[in-house]
Parts: sequence; C-alpha cells; structure tokens
Amino acid sequence: MTERDLDSDLAYLDYNATAPTRPEAVAATLDAMRTVGNASSTHRSGRDAALRVDVARRQVANLLNCSPGEIVFTSGATEANNLALRAAFSAGGALVTSTVEHPAVLETARALTSDAPESLILLSVDEDGLVDLDGLHLALAASSVAIVSLMAANNETGVLTDLAPIVKAAHAAGALVHTDATQMVGRLPIDLLESDVDLLSLSAHKFGGPQGVGALFVRRGISLPYRPLIFGGGQERGWRAGTLNVAGIAGAGAAAEASRRDLISDGTRIAQLRDSLERTLVEQVGDCRINGAIGQRLPGVTSITFHGAPADAVLAAMPDVAASEGSACAAGAPTPSHVLLGMGRSREEADSTVRLSLGYATTEHDVDRAVPSIVRAVRKVRKLLSVPIRFGA
Ligand code: PMP
Repeated sequence: MTERDLDSDLAYLDYNATAPTRPEAVAATLDAMRTVGNASSTHRSGRDAALRVDVARRQVANLLNCSPGEIVFTSGATEANNLALRAAFSAGGALVTSTVEHPAVLETARALTSDAPESLILLSVDEDGLVDLDGLHLALAASSVAIVSLMAANNETGVLTDLAPIVKAAHAAGALVHTDATQMVGRLPIDLLESDVDLLSLSAHKFGGPQGVGALFVRRGISLPYRPLIFGGGQERGWRAGTLNVAGIAGAGAAAEASRRDLISDGTRIAQLRDSLERTLVEQVGDCRINGAIGQRLPGVTSITFHGAPADAVLAAMPDVAASEGSACAAGAPTPSHVLLGMGRSREEADSTVRLSLGYATTEHDVDRAVPSIVRAVRKVRKLLSVPIRFGA
C-alpha cells in the first residue's frame, strides 16, 4: 500500500480486483527499468536482464514449490488460461470445466469448442459454490476428456476447490488437469510437488506484483501437442514469443517472494479480519446472506447479498469504500453474476450482492472505517426503495 493510499480516506477492500503493489515489487520493477538490456541479448546488459528474469522465475517457482523451468511468463492469467486450454485441447477430446469459472476460462473454452459444442462439458455447482463431482465422474466415464479445468478459488465468492480427488479421477481417465489459481496464489500455500495438477495459471497483480504479468506452470514431462498463442522469436522455450517484460517480471518475482514470506501469518490475520467484518455486517445490517461454503473459502473474501438493496446503489452510496459488485471483470456489463446464478441465486439476489476482498495490507482500521459506511449505505438504499415514489403534487 502506498503512503498516498494510507493517507487517503478510502478503505480499499477490492483485493480480488487487484492488490496494491508491494513496495518490494515497485523497487524491483523500477530497478530493472533503470537498467538497459534485452534478456535475449548475449552481451553483459542482456545477461543482466536475463539474470533478473532467472531470479524472478526462481521466486515464482518457490512460491508454488515447483521447478523454475516449469514457469512460462505471460501477460497475465488471461493469457495463461488461453495458452493452457488451447494447448491441452488440441490433443483431441472433450474439455471439462465449470459454470462458475472466470471468463478467461469460460470464453476460451467456448471459443475452442465453437465448431464442436458437444466437446464442451460444463459442470454445475451447488448452492455453496462447490463443483459437482458426480458430474465430473460421469463426464470422465462417458467421453474421452483432454482436459479438466477447474479454478482453485473463485474470484467472486472465494470458494476453494478441493483439487486432489479431481486430479486423481482425471488422471485415471487419461485427462490433464488445469487450474486457474489466480485468486489463490500468494494467499494460501500451494505445493506443486505434493499436488499433481498439470497446468496452473497465475497473475502477479493479485498478490502485489505489477498488472500485465502472469505465468503458466507447465509440469515437466506432461505430454502436450504444444501450441503457442504467440509465434515469433521463440522466447520462453517457444511457449510465448516476444521480448520479455523484464521489469514486470522482476516485480512479479519480488511480490512472489514477499507473499511467500508473509503467507502463513497473513492468512490467519486476514481471515480474522474478514470474519469480524462479516459478523458485524450481519449483526448491524440484518436480512443478508453470505455466499459460498463458509468453511472452504479464501481468507480475505466475502460475498454478501444485502436483500432489498441493489449493489450498484450501495456502492454509489459509499464512495469511501472500494468494493465490487460481482467481479470487476464483469463490471459495467448489465448482466448479473454468472457465478451467483450458477449457485442458484435469483437475478435480484445476484444484483444485490457486494464483494469485499481484503489482503496483505488491510488493517483493522480499514475494516473499522468501512463498516459504518457499508451499514449506512445499505440502510439508505433500503429506505429509499421502500418509499413509494409519488409523481405530481
Ligand atoms: N482468473 C481469475 C480467477 C481472475 O480473478 C482473474 C482476474 N480477475 C483472471 C483470471 C484474469 O487475470 P488477468 O486479468 O490479470 O489476466
């Protein structure tokens, strides 16, 4: 969090949209920007740039407990998801994913299967946002599946997917497993030595790195009819051509290292803040519902439906709190959250849902400052809507 943000009277509770850039990431990015060098050049300047990329690759790999050679830097999780799904799907077979994935997976899956819609199998979720495992078993038994792509943590509700049984079932059926772990990386421990996931996407700005940098983990030895999205000079072992974004990658690495350092202590602290925020709001606002499996969520996320209070009006009534209505990626679009609809909520409930997301720099002070504003905003909107509008005298 910058000093400017700390001084401002804005309570920033929108970490799932983007986290404040960590000071370590700002320093590493600026340092790399001040130095000339193309990571592909063989002279000393180029080697210096390549070294910064190597360091960052190690830092990101350490956060995931994988090998640096398994990391492909991209422009973000959107590109990583596109790359993973396209590479795995081109092997032939069906693509299995869920109705509550981020558009970077859902739209990619739809585009890849547009010529053969029957090869897209969408699993539903229950009212807690947990994926239908019976549906997965049925899909694996009924079709030849190329890839199962299920998100590690949902961006709107924070609901976590228990990937271990999914990986086991998919591998037994000969399918690869990809997970969009964009919201989980840097927030909860991930151990890719212990997990057998084949492909994993991340985005640096969700854990305090710069925007526009991400990575795809590609497990060594998996068989992929490898197809890059971007052809050119063969960087990133041919996975992703183009001059490397050395400064951004250096920032991503520094953020990964700082996240790893703070992972355990931050997780507990942030969960306590989130729980206290939820408790107070439920007590003081009343008639609301927390969305998502309560015991199986990211520590910093809460998705709350304030019945009778449309979220756009609530957000407008609390300009001193930065929060989201549904997901930021869908903001501006007049469609209700596909995640909440997928969990069986009505359109009205989906439209009355606010996402508050906390992270590494959130303090008790932020929560204390946000609560009265949220309570006031919801009461104000409910009151306005309960008064019949009269026209004329
Ligand atoms: N997947 C998930 C779960 C996300 O939350 C996001 C960002 N909202 C993305 C993918 C895309 O990340 P980016 O925009 O950084 O490419």
